[in-house]
Amino acid sequence: MKQLIDLDKKHFIHPTSSIKQQQEQGAKSIIKEGDGIYLKDFNGKTFIDAMSSLWNVNIGHGRKELAEAAKQQMETLAFSSAFSTFSHEPAIQLAEKIAAISPGNLNAVFFTSGGSESNDSAFKLVRHFWKLKGEPQRNKIIALKKGYHGVASASTSATGIPEFWEMADLTVPGFIHAESPYEQGTEKSIRSIREKIESEGRENIAAFIAEPVQGAGGVLIPPDDYFKEVRQLCDEYGILFIADEVITGFGRTGKMFGLEHCGVVPDMMTFAKGVTSGYIPFGGVVVSDPIHNVLKEKSTGTLFHGFTYSGHPTAAAVALKNIEIIEQEGLVANSQAMGDELLKGFKQMKQQLDIVGDVRTTGLLGAMELVEDPETNKRFSADLKVAPEVIEALHERGVICRAVTYEGTDIICFAPPLIINKTQIQTLLEKLHDAVLAVQ
Ligand code: PLP
Repeated sequence: MKQLIDLDKKHFIHPTSSIKQQQEQGAKSIIKEGDGIYLKDFNGKTFIDAMSSLWNVNIGHGRKELAEAAKQQMETLAFSSAFSTFSHEPAIQLAEKIAAISPGNLNAVFFTSGGSESNDSAFKLVRHFWKLKGEPQRNKIIALKKGYHGVASASTSATGIPEFWEMADLTVPGFIHAESPYEQGTEKSIRSIREKIESEGRENIAAFIAEPVQGAGGVLIPPDDYFKEVRQLCDEYGILFIADEVITGFGRTGKMFGLEHCGVVPDMMTFAKGVTSGYIPFGGVVVSDPIHNVLKEKSTGTLFHGFTYSGHPTAAAVALKNIEIIEQEGLVANSQAMGDELLKGFKQMKQQLDIVGDVRTTGLLGAMELVEDPETNKRFSADLKVAPEVIEALHERGVICRAVTYEGTDIICFAPPLIINKTQIQTLLEKLHDAVLAVQ
């Protein structure tokens, strides 16, 4: 273990992590194996993976069926190009499956290797679409404050959490941030988007992008009417609406896709994470029939956009098996039912403990805010962050969770695997109760 920690410090630059902390303290847990909702580290300690790792291991750890699907595909055809006039069966079958489960007229898919690539691809496809339509000046993208869309250049710029731009002073031009509906409410957020459209010039706006629930922002669930209003606004100005379903897709919120809760169909939908439950990197963009028709009818030369691994056969085979498991095991319905159990427990804790503020879930995507005074929702002072202490106390008790603490917030996020059962939810809640009690 000591040797692994030393090698980790010496050679491994961790993603989205404090390099200083890694060097000073070393990795806290070096994870060795996973089974169901559990992870086990090299010290033999078992944890409930209450975040599905990075909101992605939807069907849980250690599923042999996915390993088998990968093995079979690798033995048959591990990789082959989908560029130009080549194609292969797993990508074709997966594109058909994703079209079938996607809402409305979202019927054609461009594949990537993850969420950031998916959003960067969506932005390029949107701009290409407007160029083909004869409106090349429509190239600006409106996104929301507190939104998270990834770390490639354009998806970093779309992200509405400034820390992500500031580390490299990176924003590519053409991305504008409007107010999020979470604290501002539907009306203010819609007004803010409208103001941005008008001030940038309505003829210059290509698309609006948002997550159905802002995940990394702190599991910020918008008011019920929000996306209906967004859809109307986009239609009024002829702007495309991109839903970033990277976290909310594949059952996470208790529907197959998050926007289904409000019956709104976007023009494009990006996905990743849960499509393969993290067993292999994968993602994509689903586009509507009208957009696909413009691409088909007006394109002349080559679509100069494609990753080596777009539609990777092995990843596509794993995705197909993963979706089959989600459907056959009723994991979307389980996500809704277990999410309700989680919320019940959160609400009880709000009665019993002194520092529990707003609690919320949508399916198995949830959050608990920690505040100094739950009556008034008064936050702790800016330099006192309580959520990381609770995360630490949970870690000691064998639960892995995540804190969100930027801009004065103090939030614990939850996204357990969709296979979690009622007994396991109770255990998670008991450990959470103990951890908050120990810290408050
Ligand atoms: N979009 C959302 C909503 C996400 O939560 C994430 C990652 O957390 C991304 C995009 C980026 O995905 P990736 O990390 O696979 O590039």
